[in-house]
Amino acid sequence: MTSQPVAVIGAGLAGSEAALVLARAGIPVELFEQRPHHSTPAHTTDLPAELVCSNSLKSMQLPSAHALLKKELGILESPLLREARAVRVPAGSALAVDRTAFARRVLECLAREERITLIRRECARAPEGYACCIVAAGPLVSDALAGWLMTTFSSNALHFYDAIAPIIAADSVDMSVAFFANRREREGTDYLNCPFSETEFRRFHRALVDADRVAARAFENARFFEACLPVEVVAQRGPDALAFGTLKPVGLTDPRTGRRPYAVCQLRRENAPGESLGMVGFQTRLTQKAQREVFRLIPGLAHAEFLRYGSIHRNTYLDGPDLLTAGLSFAAHPAVFLAGQLCGNEGYTESIATGHLAALSAAARMRGGTFEPPPPTTACGALLRHVTASREKPFTPSNINFGLIDPLGAGGKRIGKHDKRRLLCERAVRDLTAWRRSSVRDTT
Ligand SMILES: Cc1cc2nc3c(=O)[nH]c(=O)nc-3n(C[C@H](O)[C@H](O)[C@H](O)COP(=O)(O)OP(=O)(O)OC[C@H]3O[C@@H](n4cnc5c(N)ncnc54)[C@H](O)[C@@H]3O)c2cc1C
Repeated sequence: MTSQPVAVIGAGLAGSEAALVLARAGIPVELFEQRPHHSTPAHTTDLPAELVCSNSLKSMQLPSAHALLKKELGILESPLLREARAVRVPAGSALAVDRTAFARRVLECLAREERITLIRRECARAPEGYACCIVAAGPLVSDALAGWLMTTFSSNALHFYDAIAPIIAADSVDMSVAFFANRREREGTDYLNCPFSETEFRRFHRALVDADRVAARAFENARFFEACLPVEVVAQRGPDALAFGTLKPVGLTDPRTGRRPYAVCQLRRENAPGESLGMVGFQTRLTQKAQREVFRLIPGLAHAEFLRYGSIHRNTYLDGPDLLTAGLSFAAHPAVFLAGQLCGNEGYTESIATGHLAALSAAARMRGGTFEPPPPTTACGALLRHVTASREKPFTPSNINFGLIDPLGAGGKRIGKHDKRRLLCERAVRDLTAWRRSSVRDTT
């Protein structure tokens, strides 16, 4: 429909999704990816859409806000969500994926699409000569591009810290201690559980609180994202914070004792054969030596082999509400769009969602039309509103949650939380379906 290409910077989750959505709309794309020539502190491959930490895209079970966002992305026929579903690994109600298979499939999709050219080059600024540019360079954006964004749009980039959890070799777990079970399901095999007695837990907790951490540099004000706090930071709030949080034993029975353990560390498969296991909720900034010493105190992990250590990274984002229009373009530069974590959403699926929406918005501009955002009664619309119009100061990134979505209208009889959420999800699905229909009609 147009021969003018759009430049997309970053073949991460947002950028790969945006490129595929634009191509599907008939628009040629040049997708710039700096890896492998220049990498980030968290990426370990040159594959697109690499999941840098957990392999989970969170719950698929309605009525939850995370499941709703995925349901809506399904309605929008999100290319990346389709690939994620194809490489799902067992994880209860969560959509967890084999991260390498997922990234390879995304690479294949990009390669199959003749309208997309993948260019392996770092962009120090939005490249010249394109009708539009979508900047989707992620929270670990290269310094040069971050500098350009600062000087062009905002003198003040915001940031917080995000931590990565360790991955361990499955054959190094002591299976005479650990047991397979899903919460409240004896027969489930999605999670491998390492059960603590109270004495073992107290000893582990003490060691965790006292362990050496990677020192913050002088200029770093270590602000963490509350939903992704390092395990040692949670531990500092008191032993119960862990026993009632990350390590809660609810719904699990230790087959050795026939009783509920005092606490449980859960391990989740990283790939379909289950050779590597992620430590659920164990994002950390402990030194590698301390991780070996402290995490080997977990029952069943005395000889754990660490395939990847936990680590911590600065997570950069811009003040979207101050800079962006409702269609994710910069108010001062309407042909430049921002997507993914850099625009102030938090999370893998959320990054896919803003990548998708930025592409629809850029496509509307390419056609000379206007982009009508999805209504804030939907997860997509509510997320978009958060990153473009939140009144919170200072602005902070957010995962999708029911608090962002417009509440149900008052009136009617009083209903419980579960029913309220169910109705909210039903309304969101209806509204998004109608929005999609009308936006497709507008473009045909
Ligand atoms: C350490 C860490 C751990 C995280 N853990 C989780 C988690 O467990 N679960 C979760 O839901 N979210 C997590 N996140 C948050 C977030 O969801 C992910 O970072 C997600 O990958 C963001 O998607 P994105 O597309 O915005 O960026 P990315 O997926 O990071 O993609 C950005 C791409 O842009 C490329 N790039 C950067 N600069 C340039 C340039 N100048 N030129 C060309 N290419 C460039 C990068 O190489 C990269 O491929 C984590 C973030 C960090 C930093």
